[in-house]
Amino acid sequence: MKLVDLFEKKTVFSLEVFPPRKNTSKESILPTLSSLNDISPDFISVTLGAGGTAQGNETIEVANLIQNQLHVPAVAHIPSLYRNQDQVDELLDQLAADNIQNVLALRGDPVDGLSPNGTFYHASDLVAYIDREYPNFDVAAACYPEVHQESPSVVADIEGLRRKVDAGADHLISQLFFDNQHFYEFQERLALAGITVPVEAGIMPCTNKKQIERITKFSGVPVPKKYQKMLDRYADNSLALKDAGIAYAIEQIVDLVSQGVDGIHLYTMNKPEIAEKIWDATKTIFEANQTKDRGAIELVH
Ligand code: FAD
Repeated sequence: MKLVDLFEKKTVFSLEVFPPRKNTSKESILPTLSSLNDISPDFISVTLGAGGTAQGNETIEVANLIQNQLHVPAVAHIPSLYRNQDQVDELLDQLAADNIQNVLALRGDPVDGLSPNGTFYHASDLVAYIDREYPNFDVAAACYPEVHQESPSVVADIEGLRRKVDAGADHLISQLFFDNQHFYEFQERLALAGITVPVEAGIMPCTNKKQIERITKFSGVPVPKKYQKMLDRYADNSLALKDAGIAYAIEQIVDLVSQGVDGIHLYTMNKPEIAEKIWDATKTIFEANQTKDRGAIELVH
């Protein structure tokens, strides 16, 4: 069964991890994975750096552990800006050999001092290539409820997305956001553009202030005032900030799932205890949606 078919049956709950640092044994991530497995996620995706140093071995090894030891579907991220066709083929062939046929096709962020390879300049180029040459793969792509930071306009952003979906992206996974209203407005834009593939909402629980500030600055994601107040108030109390961040993420998820979102993709930051708390607080609402009706998008203003 392709991953995309899952969305017909239920509200999907997926997780994202990053591989251990270079020169660290891949087994060091096993306790994290095994705790995350207790949540019974629908799939776990594994990130891969865009730049020159990340060959992809670590990502493939971790994806292999997820798929073949945990028996949870694994999704390997593939940023393509600095990879040529042979390098992409090598990754896809190795994944297929490991019985993994799910990828998140990405462009990757530009890295200072590196020149793009030019083969896959946009994610849509990679999506089209995989769709043509590796038709058994389930291909997800990224989307941006608050508009990708390089997009010159909201319309250009949706046009970029349209290209990925037309090229064969089976479903979309969103960038993190802290204001659900922006996600609902994004869903309306997708509906207007006739983009009907399932879209998972990306949720990142706050684990510490510096990390959130670094990620939001890098990705251009706006931080709502009330979220900033929470970060500022509990900046020096890591336990309180963690609890507040978990509560905020739970509130976002309950709202999104109640409104009929296709799925939640949790950026775990390799912190299984946080993912477990969020799952414990929300699993009944996911379970209640097992035979959900995707229905039409309603205005929630
Ligand atoms: P694209 O779809 O190519 O879009 C990039 C920009 O180009 C957009 O502004 C778009 O509107 C525009 N565009 C698209 N097509 C065209 C066209 N034909 N002509 C003109 N403009 C166009 N990065 C990593 O390096 N590793 C990861 O593991 C990783 N995981 C991620 C997971 C998720 C869920 C998300 C949301 C992002 C992830 N990223 C990762 C970050 C991602 O690589 C960056 O956001 C990157 O800047 C854009 O990637 P993209 O695949 O969306 O690119």
